[in-house]
Amino acid sequence: MGWLSKLTGSKKTEIPSDLWNKCPKCNEILIKKDLAKNLHLCPKCDFHLRMPVWDRIAMLTDNNSFVELDNQMESSDPLNFLDTMPYTERIQKSICATDTFDAITCGEATLDGHRILLGVMNFEFMGGSMGSVVGEKVTRLMELAYEKKIPVVIVSSSGGARMQEGILSLMQMAKTSQTIARLAEVSVPYISILTDPTTGGVSASFAMLGDINMAEPGSLIGFAGPRVIEQTIRQKLPDGFQRSEFLLQHGILDLVIHRRQMKSILSKILKLLN
Ligand SMILES: [Zn+2]
Repeated sequence: MGWLSKLTGSKKTEIPSDLWNKCPKCNEILIKKDLAKNLHLCPKCDFHLRMPVWDRIAMLTDNNSFVELDNQMESSDPLNFLDTMPYTERIQKSICATDTFDAITCGEATLDGHRILLGVMNFEFMGGSMGSVVGEKVTRLMELAYEKKIPVVIVSSSGGARMQEGILSLMQMAKTSQTIARLAEVSVPYISILTDPTTGGVSASFAMLGDINMAEPGSLIGFAGPRVIEQTIRQKLPDGFQRSEFLLQHGILDLVIHRRQMKSILSKILKLLN
């Protein structure tokens, strides 16, 4: 106890560091359990923090309606990849840390009574990177949508292709894109929701191929990061570059929607499209 505290008799209350977060925008201390109740929005500045997969699924779907698909699909290690640790070990660590088997969770659910096929990416799982499992699960979701004529909603959050699977990761861009193209044949809508951050191979494939592309406020969305672009073109980038509002202004996105309104807007769109 410091001398001032001894004099005043005051005691500082310490909150264990795993119980709180700091808002990246306004530095407000945010208690994690309160944050979950507030849809992971900062109560002071309304900043949209990253949302855990299951909270996102609960927010977008009707109570207990979500039935998970392909929930145990797990990556193999086709290249025997080794960086600071073997790829297989990295995968196992992510599985333990996130309680999911890869960077996307897919399933069938209802949203205000509308049947949907839903995929939600998990940035906590190796930066939401797309390897063979993410590509295969997205493809299967699209194929099911084609077969059953159910609209698809995918919430993206990704740093791009997974380097540990090399060319196989890059091939997922073509694979997912071609199944999405097929949905047009049967007039099944696909709505893409881009959240912070959606970059690299995911933004360059299924995340940008929605019939409607919408994003959460302030999300970083692009292919290469702003620093790389600045170094390449040797020019200062404009304010707000690669943020959702900037992309909306430049015609890359159709809508920027506050998290609180996401479900009701989706419901309206699904009603109109049905
Ligand atoms: Zn804040």
